[in-house]
Amino acid sequence: MTSAPGAPRKPLLPLDDALAQLLAAVSPLTATEQVSTFDADGRVLAANVVSELQVPAFDNSAMDGYAVRAEDLMFGSNELRVTQRIAAGAVGEQLQAGTAGRIFTGAPVPPGADAVVMQEDCTRIHDERDGEPETIRVNTTPLPGQHIRHAGEDVQRGDCVLPAGTRLSPAELGLAASIGMAQLKVVRKPRVALFSTGDELVMPGTVAPQDMPPGAIYNSNRFFLLNLLRRMGCEVADLGIVPDNREATIAALQRAAADNDVILTSGGVSVGEEDHIKPAVQSLGTLDLWQIAIKPGKPFAHGRIGAAHFIGLPGNPVSSFVTFLVLVRPFLMRLQGVQESAMKSIAVRADFDWPKADKRREFLRVRHNANGGLDLFSNQSSGVLTSAVWGDGLVDVAPGEPILYGQAVRFIPFQGLLA
Ligand code: AMP
Ligand code: MG
Repeated sequence: MTSAPGAPRKPLLPLDDALAQLLAAVSPLTATEQVSTFDADGRVLAANVVSELQVPAFDNSAMDGYAVRAEDLMFGSNELRVTQRIAAGAVGEQLQAGTAGRIFTGAPVPPGADAVVMQEDCTRIHDERDGEPETIRVNTTPLPGQHIRHAGEDVQRGDCVLPAGTRLSPAELGLAASIGMAQLKVVRKPRVALFSTGDELVMPGTVAPQDMPPGAIYNSNRFFLLNLLRRMGCEVADLGIVPDNREATIAALQRAAADNDVILTSGGVSVGEEDHIKPAVQSLGTLDLWQIAIKPGKPFAHGRIGAAHFIGLPGNPVSSFVTFLVLVRPFLMRLQGVQESAMKSIAVRADFDWPKADKRREFLRVRHNANGGLDLFSNQSSGVLTSAVWGDGLVDVAPGEPILYGQAVRFIPFQGLLA
């Protein structure tokens, strides 16, 4: 049910307005903790990470080959005596005119050398013998600086390599490690209580598929919401399924509000007689029930119970999934101090028609085809979770704007949203 009989219809709220209101209600968490850089994936930095050294720390070879003086090879003989050997981790000596240093990737370029010639461009004339060093012929004219990775070309001393508010992913952890950071100061994890509402819900594993009573369905939302929250760096208190009655809903909300930053629920946010979220939250705190102009996912609720935020998602699985991505995800990012949380879309060609655009902004489940265009999943119903699995992202369709075959559309990859 979308509205109680006779209730006046409120105009639908544009998604951007809903998001702006939701984000405006967030006070970022201020508590921080030190974690091992190993364990910081998905967390948000609470302080700038500033480098106390330059990276690379020294000029080093980008190749296995020979360190040379480019000048030696511009004129005259292209034969050089190999007078030193510098492996990664070793240090060379001053390179004299007419000589080369055998060098390996990552080894410091010896003083006096200004280029590296790759070994494929050299011929060994003779090996070391009778006290005479190995001699090579260089079959190329090196340019000064070639195949040298210069000190500081990646990071300068004093550079802020990662600003506070950065959400860490494996690349950031590597960069932090490259300047010697074994620990990082991150925002503490948001604590989120999660429950699903619905008398029809059955947990997988408790009733076999062939024994499911009429009208019953398995609780699927709980599985993706729990894991979406974990991916967002949250500590989740999973409160299971709450039956469709006022008392049970109030009791669950009270429990959840006691020691969580956020209470996230699915289902029961419409205004039918079996939707108990609204009156239950209102009896304990405040609630805004929004009808958002998006499809899937029209009903959405935000409120407060004590210090905790309440967020109510619709029950339909795809609605729940999409509203999490477009609203809850930026909310949780902001809660952890990430400033830039907007979804990033890219222009991709639609290899489908969407002739009847809805009045609401739509998020279609699509996937890339072998020709670089997007195919549309055949069933865009908000209950068909297969669409989210088949798809590799969403097309963001403006209200009332049909899509013509071949047109460029705004594609939002799931990869960017689920990371
Ligand atoms: P509601 O928002 O409670 O009116 O639910 C809308 C639809 O979503 C109904 O068909 C519900 O059975 C379904 N639904 C609600 N919660 C879940 C859930 N946790 N898992 C799967 N389907 C659900
Ligand atoms: Mg329900």
